[in-house]
Amino acid sequence: MDNLDKNLWNCSFSHIYIEKEAYNYNLTKEIISKFKNSIIVEIDHYKDVFCKSHQDFVAQKNSPKLILAVKKEKFIYEGSNMCDSFGNDNFYYTSSVMNCIYNCEYCYLQGMYPSSNIVIFVNIEAAIEETLNILKQHPLYLCVSYDTDLMAVENITAFLHKWIAAAMENKNLKIEIRTKSANFDSIKDIHPIKNVILAWTISPDEIVNEFEKGTPSLNKRLTNICEAIDLGWKVRICFDPVLYVDKWIDIYKSCVQKTFEYLGNREVLEVSIGVFRVAKDYLKIMNKLRPNSKILSYPFTLEAGSCSYNNVHIEEIKGILKAQVNKYVESNKIYI
Ligand code: SF4
Repeated sequence: MDNLDKNLWNCSFSHIYIEKEAYNYNLTKEIISKFKNSIIVEIDHYKDVFCKSHQDFVAQKNSPKLILAVKKEKFIYEGSNMCDSFGNDNFYYTSSVMNCIYNCEYCYLQGMYPSSNIVIFVNIEAAIEETLNILKQHPLYLCVSYDTDLMAVENITAFLHKWIAAAMENKNLKIEIRTKSANFDSIKDIHPIKNVILAWTISPDEIVNEFEKGTPSLNKRLTNICEAIDLGWKVRICFDPVLYVDKWIDIYKSCVQKTFEYLGNREVLEVSIGVFRVAKDYLKIMNKLRPNSKILSYPFTLEAGSCSYNNVHIEEIKGILKAQVNKYVESNKIYI
């Protein structure tokens, strides 16, 4: 599974559902050409497939289908208060791909979407145009790898190339690219710029192996991070979500230690620490989908519509992680 990123280039979506209108886009043709063995099914609207009732999100993860669609609704949304804006004003996010090639047991997407099939909106230019229109009014801090992992599918979509090009031409656009992938190679041809932040989610191997199916190992993520920093990219490290599992203190302390020993004297932009949290309604669905999940069976506390660990555990996690990170990174660069 470590090689999923690289192999995705050849990964077989047995079926590709394509909206009639999506055929008019070059990206559709390019994607079809990469999946020569897939069965193509023409559809009127992506929701005819994506929103069908009685789908099994978890079962579909074993053989996800691809859906190519043209997004009619807006692309840019205000950032959620469950996510950190890292002190940036005008925090927004955009979702040009729905769903993710990975299969994290704690992923909120399984509570949010009726299907784990992957939807790619091929009219990415419309998202960028909408962004440019907002930029006429004010600067933007835009998270582009949201509700998906864009770097993991860059070989299919090339969306990061487009977003980074937009940031290159518009200094008042700052973008964050959040990823767990080891597919930095896919954007290595781009010259790093100051207003693009590559944000890697870091998890201990114990968590990767048990709860983050399909994602690259900690070593592979760290190797990618080192390469990115060496080439001049700004990198944010995210220990988020920290999971309250058996021996979590040992597991996460050694993960933090390993991370910074691996990075050596390379500078990171900042570090974020966050505990697992999810919207109440999503958690209800997630519990139905994964009734035997160890991590989802915690007796969560509900506060303002969001479920997380009880305050004692939250404070313990934050305190211990912060102290451990603080051995390597100044306090003013740590966001909790
Ligand atoms: S990498 Fe993120 S978006 Fe993808 S499955 Fe895991 S938690 Fe969900």
